[in-house]
Amino acid sequence: MTGWCDTCDRRVEGETCEVCGQPVTEPERIRLDWKWKFFGVSTVIYLIWRIYQLIHWLTS
Ligand SMILES: [Zn+2]
Repeated sequence: MTGWCDTCDRRVEGETCEVCGQPVTEPERIRLDWKWKFFGVSTVIYLIWRIYQLIHWLTS
């Protein structure tokens, strides 16, 4: 199983990081999915904020 060590910020083969000894149970694929979800939500919030500013600028 391939995991990810948050402490070393590196990919780890197995369930325990061989560098720092921390257990890594979260698969990398799920981590990447969460990154993309977070990126998508951030983009939507940013666009809504920009549209709000534009409307506010046009109506003031
Ligand atoms: Zn580590």
